Amino acid sequence: MSEEEFRLLNFEEAPQIIVPPPGPKAAALREEQQKLETHAVKYMKYFPTAWESARGATIRDVDGNIFIDWASGAGVLNVGHCNPIVIEAVKRQVERFIHALDIPTEARIEFLKKFHAILPEGLRGSAKVMFSITGSDAIEASVKIARYISKKPTVLVFEGAYHGMHFGALTMSSVTPLQQQIGPLLPSVFRAPFPYCYRCVFGKSYGNCSYECLSYIEHLFKDPYSGLLEPAAILIEPIQGEGGYIPAPDEFLQGLRKIASEQGVLLIFDEVQCGFGRSGRMWASEWSSVTPDIMVTSKAIAGGIPMSAIAYQQKYDEMLPEAFHLGTYRGNTVACASGAAVISYIVEKRLPERANKLGGIALNYLKDLQAETKSIDDVRGRGMMIGIEFVRDKATKEPSPEMATQVQEECFKRGLIVLKMGHWGNCIRFVPPLVITEELLAKSLEIFRESVKEAERKAPKPVEKVMMG
Ligand code: PMP
Repeated sequence: MSEEEFRLLNFEEAPQIIVPPPGPKAAALREEQQKLETHAVKYMKYFPTAWESARGATIRDVDGNIFIDWASGAGVLNVGHCNPIVIEAVKRQVERFIHALDIPTEARIEFLKKFHAILPEGLRGSAKVMFSITGSDAIEASVKIARYISKKPTVLVFEGAYHGMHFGALTMSSVTPLQQQIGPLLPSVFRAPFPYCYRCVFGKSYGNCSYECLSYIEHLFKDPYSGLLEPAAILIEPIQGEGGYIPAPDEFLQGLRKIASEQGVLLIFDEVQCGFGRSGRMWASEWSSVTPDIMVTSKAIAGGIPMSAIAYQQKYDEMLPEAFHLGTYRGNTVACASGAAVISYIVEKRLPERANKLGGIALNYLKDLQAETKSIDDVRGRGMMIGIEFVRDKATKEPSPEMATQVQEECFKRGLIVLKMGHWGNCIRFVPPLVITEELLAKSLEIFRESVKEAERKAPKPVEKVMMG
């Protein structure tokens, strides 16, 4: 696909700030929302605007400002906002059928065939698929399967993990501020350090270690006094998402695979955020050639319509009872129609390759910026999933949520939407739609650079509450 085709998917004028946001229309809508909806939301607080329409990697607000989008609705819009192929598929489907429970429809079967065809090699041809609705819901389904099959309760999860907000998924996440005062959460969840090489808890650095993080997990399984009781599964994001866009080293994932197989526990990969071409491969697991026993997907799956799906070895499916994971909306027909279109688009337009190419340009640019600045101390990622980590002092690595917040504000003023993340809310994520043009990418990188420089010039305001997003 030529650059010209991608250009036509976007609002050409982006970025364009004609009224400092919030303009009058946005202010009125925000006021209504605050009156009518809970204040316990998040994103609207960081972006004082209100959306009117969006295309590709660009979003227009109700006052006519146009932003470049580095957020993709938290990793959902890999094929861009309102991709014509998604619009067409949804329109066609809503005229025929909207809700069908799990009774076959052409859309459902088309989605399933396409999804099976793109599964990682080790699952392709030997998998079954189970539908869910959200990422959290699918994570819980995967853990239910692991527990049911193994007849054991415990899931080994990782520090910094984010698997969702439902009770089960929240227990498996590692977001302490959001886990307080609502317990008890699920029992039988055991946590180990994630290979966050920039902040290695074993005091090592990547390339200069013996994978102590892996030896520690081996120890948990082998030492009868480790306290790891009756493990059913290991659940991990191959590239940690909300925790800071941290790719687990390939050797670590290969080691985990070995431990899981030797110990007879299931390996579950959460590809909710890093899947569907985002990392530069269709699945992040493909970088390490590790096949999980269960793969969990959602977010980009249906172009913005809620759906999730898990794929797992057929032999496990044979052990499940009827109606194991029921749910009114699971595998919704409109989402399936949209999802089938999304998969065709990702494959035909080779979006994983594009993620690698454009992500490579961004990574180099941001690494150069790191060298020029006092506050950026780590830039890492794969494809178009890059994390930029801010610190107060490069010598101490003390996290700087205030710099990340100031940079987010500066970007917004200049017409660029960026989301924060990380254990201290001190990282910014680069996760634009994969259809962003080279020209918009160059413009947005320049805006980001200016914003960091400006934020460094100002003394950033202290941040009251640490939030990942
Ligand atoms: N897993 C990962 C890796 C995620 O990034 C998220 C959402 N950010 C979830 C699970 C939860 O998905 P949802 O918000 O759809 O429940």
